[in-house]
Amino acid sequence: MAEQDLDAFRSELRVWLEQHVPADLSPENAANLADDERIRRLRAWQRTLADARWIGITWPREYGGRAAGIAEQIVYVEEMARARAPEIVGTLGIGIAGPPILAYGTDEQKRRFAHRILTAEDLWCFGFSEPGAGSDLASLRTTAVLDGDHFVVNGQKVWTTLGHHADWCMLLARTDPDTKRAKGISCLLVDMKSPGIEVRPLRQMTGDAEFNEMFFDNVRVPRANLLGELHEGWQIAVAALQNERGILYVVSMQILLKQARDRLIEMARARDAGRDPLLRQELARVYLGTEIFRLTCQRTLDKLLRMGMPGPEASIIKLHWTELTQAMPRVGMAMLGPAGLLYDTPAPAKKGNPQEFMQHGFLATPAASIASGTSEIMRGIIAMQVLGLPRGT
Ligand SMILES: Cc1cc2nc3c(=O)[nH]c(=O)nc-3n(C[C@H](O)[C@H](O)[C@H](O)COP(=O)(O)OP(=O)(O)OC[C@H]3O[C@@H](n4cnc5c(N)ncnc54)[C@H](O)[C@@H]3O)c2cc1C
Repeated sequence: MAEQDLDAFRSELRVWLEQHVPADLSPENAANLADDERIRRLRAWQRTLADARWIGITWPREYGGRAAGIAEQIVYVEEMARARAPEIVGTLGIGIAGPPILAYGTDEQKRRFAHRILTAEDLWCFGFSEPGAGSDLASLRTTAVLDGDHFVVNGQKVWTTLGHHADWCMLLARTDPDTKRAKGISCLLVDMKSPGIEVRPLRQMTGDAEFNEMFFDNVRVPRANLLGELHEGWQIAVAALQNERGILYVVSMQILLKQARDRLIEMARARDAGRDPLLRQELARVYLGTEIFRLTCQRTLDKLLRMGMPGPEASIIKLHWTELTQAMPRVGMAMLGPAGLLYDTPAPAKKGNPQEFMQHGFLATPAASIASGTSEIMRGIIAMQVLGLPRGT
């Protein structure tokens, strides 16, 4: 897209956001709403975006997108952050489930699911990880056995983000019992209202309960809800995970990091923390880290714009982001001293004031080095696929 077209795109979006962002649903305000009410309000906000085609902008026009390119998507994320627009509740559907449905789905599946993902009429979750299968996902044991025109699913999933609100689940299950690894896994689109599914929320140390255990007891899933070919679900899982670690997520992460850094520095100024040489050093480290992160993102985005794929370098970004996002609340807590220990849990976390923001971040961000692939797995990918080092024993 030409520079002036991109400027016009930015202005159009900026004006629209000025007119439509609900002031009472900023990220801080939304965090204080009761869970069900927050999800209801966020679904309504996403519907407003969808009605104006301001969601899923890279999606094809026929499913409600704008067929936008990467450059517009970057502008989009920047403007949403600038406007302090509410969180997108259907991110998992738009960013992770939707693209494989568009790529591998039948026409019927695309018609049925795609638009409802954008409008947040359907929220999606991912039934990939199991108690014995996380990093080593190919060892999963949940089974789906064909019985006429249905699969019968049995097994357990865990860490299912949003499972308690989701309408649909993208589920990985073993359909060929004779194979043990990636071959023989299929990807099913499962209606979360199906009889036999039990969802048990897991409460985290922040007091929030964002993810769940899910149990499948003889759950019948129509064969028509098989995504892609039978026993060929692994490539779909890989595509979904690449989207999860995808670069456009990273642009949003870059913005969130910058916002967190600004709050940290604001707090440091208010507390005159710069007088403490150790804190001063930590603050400088965080500041420089976020600048280096920004430049690394730019370099990767440049490659993406020229070559279409970020490649394994996305793992460098995920790893660096994890380290920064964990470091900031650690420095914030060091500034707070003993007062940092006073935390009101399990009440909903109020992330509004700087102290609560740091406390919540301190308890929430250890998950960053596990979610979407652990830091050790990222280091393995960087070692082998970026640096070309030999596989360890
Ligand atoms: C916030 C959050 C949200 C999540 N949301 C979802 C979701 O919506 N759906 C879903 O399916 N899953 C979800 N997960 C699960 C996540 O994908 C897994 O936790 C992750 O893949 C790690 O798997 P695991 O927990 O089984 O740990 P394991 O794989 O058992 O790892 C345990 C430890 O061993 C290390 N390790 C394992 N293999 C290697 C190796 N080859 N080399 C070096 N070290 C290794 C790991 O780094 C880790 O330190 C979520 C997790 C978190 C924290």
